[in-house]
Amino acid sequence: MGRIAYAGGRYVPHGEAHVHVEDRGYQFADAVYEVIAVHHGRLIDEDEHLARLDRSLRELEIAWPLSERALRFKIRELIRRNRIGARGMVYLQISRGVAPRNHAFPKGRRPVLVMTVKLLPAFDYAEASRGVSVITAPDQRWRRCDIKSVSLLANVLARQQAVEAGAYEAWLVGDDGLVTEGTASNAWIVTADGLLLTHDASHAILNGITRQAVLRIAADHGVTLREGPFSVADATSAAEAFLTSTTSLIKPVVGIDGAVIGDGGIGPLTSRLLDYYVDHVGEGAAGRAGPST
Ligand code: PMP
Repeated sequence: MGRIAYAGGRYVPHGEAHVHVEDRGYQFADAVYEVIAVHHGRLIDEDEHLARLDRSLRELEIAWPLSERALRFKIRELIRRNRIGARGMVYLQISRGVAPRNHAFPKGRRPVLVMTVKLLPAFDYAEASRGVSVITAPDQRWRRCDIKSVSLLANVLARQQAVEAGAYEAWLVGDDGLVTEGTASNAWIVTADGLLLTHDASHAILNGITRQAVLRIAADHGVTLREGPFSVADATSAAEAFLTSTTSLIKPVVGIDGAVIGDGGIGPLTSRLLDYYVDHVGEGAAGRAGPST
């Protein structure tokens, strides 16, 4: 059975899920989105994702196309129809609607909801804790990165640069030389004296749901932390580094622009936080003892 998407108010085969050529999401990137992880049938931090969706919609004055209750139901129905078992993710997008092309908001149009799913391989601790490298690239995005809009062209270009450099992600750097975040993840370092640092939730970054969960978890466990920017030099000389996102969870960063971070493997605080976060998403002690024999 193939994947099922939601479009035009119906559940349809993925390949037949279309939007209109004059959908404002398509023509103007006039749309917002969310990505929610599913682990063992459970939607991770669903309330937080829907609260951020509500905030993004309000910031752009796009109405909810259906009630929040109805959306929760439809997300569940999509998961059920796709038989997402061990692990997957739901992508949902709401555009301002379909209207003759004109920059100003159209009157009386219904916002358009589409949803797709992706089935992911079962969680694997060894894979999750493997270090990756990042490059840095200029942050060329607009000034409202706190809105989760589908306007992602600058993110796309920087991510492509990372791919071409053989890196996992690009960390974006403002004109002031400070790291804002990754193209699709938040950036974190641990300084030599053990301070956990990630950019504050200003207009310069997307306030990741994983970021918020990790901040909560770190505070609960008495980790010394600060929300504030850091420079590329701070990052390359950090004791530890990692990135966070719904799909990458907590991913150790062991190389930045070719500089080796720590001893080149997952750092001790990153490892602790990953363990806590893995519990948070309900993957328990899965494989944590290392590769099975
Ligand atoms: N920053 C950006 C620019 C992103 O696109 C994402 C992922 N959508 C994140 C951060 C991480 O957010 P979350 O933890 O909610 O997935």
